[in-house]
Amino acid sequence: MADGVRAVTNWLQECAEEFDARVEELDALDRLLGDGDHGTNMSRGLAAARSLDLDGSQQIQRASEALRQVGMALVSTVGGASGPLFGTFFLRVGTNFPSPVGTAGVAAAMEAGLAGVVARGRAERGDKTMIDALAPAVDSLLASAHAGEPLGEALVKAADAAEVGRDATRAMVAKRGRAKLKATESVGVIDPGAVSMALILRTAVKHVG
Ligand code: ADP
Ligand code: MG
Repeated sequence: MADGVRAVTNWLQECAEEFDARVEELDALDRLLGDGDHGTNMSRGLAAARSLDLDGSQQIQRASEALRQVGMALVSTVGGASGPLFGTFFLRVGTNFPSPVGTAGVAAAMEAGLAGVVARGRAERGDKTMIDALAPAVDSLLASAHAGEPLGEALVKAADAAEVGRDATRAMVAKRGRAKLKATESVGVIDPGAVSMALILRTAVKHVG
């Protein structure tokens, strides 16, 4: 268990529960900016986390496998922007997940996740997307790794940074995805994908730290 397969699986399963509980809230936010399906999309994609098998005959052996299974499910079962983008995030974090788990390794894995989302979606900071939550979290993790901080502390700071980034999307004008069509009306509304990304990071604090 040195690579944290149990911790990562618990993280993903709690993400699934959180998204189930917040379908309405995220759909409602996406109704203001897009087509009203973001909560439904995330809940459907993360459902794959439920079938991750820690103890049975199909037992997963590594954290990277758990992350990749959920990433594949998001890419292949969820349409629209968020499936491929959040899917790419989990796939890349999975491919780069460290063993043993530590601050520098997790920072590098999250940095790879961010790079994957940017390569696929071509959004930049300030475009009012999930990147506005993820990029500050990655910055924070890299700074924590540089300072030699333990992973628990580093993840708390990263989740805090993601939430500040999430809240900053309220004042931004949407430049990507469906929300771009409602660019003017988008000011004053928090981006739902940024809410989801901040939630994923906050949930990591409990399990991965
Ligand atoms: P869709 O827009 O296809 O209906 P969702 O509603 O599930 O998909 O997801 C919308 C979220 O996806 C947005 O809130 C935003 O955070 C994110 N998003 C959209 N386009 C991009 C992009 N090019 N790069 C990064 N994130 C994006
Ligand atoms: Mg949508």
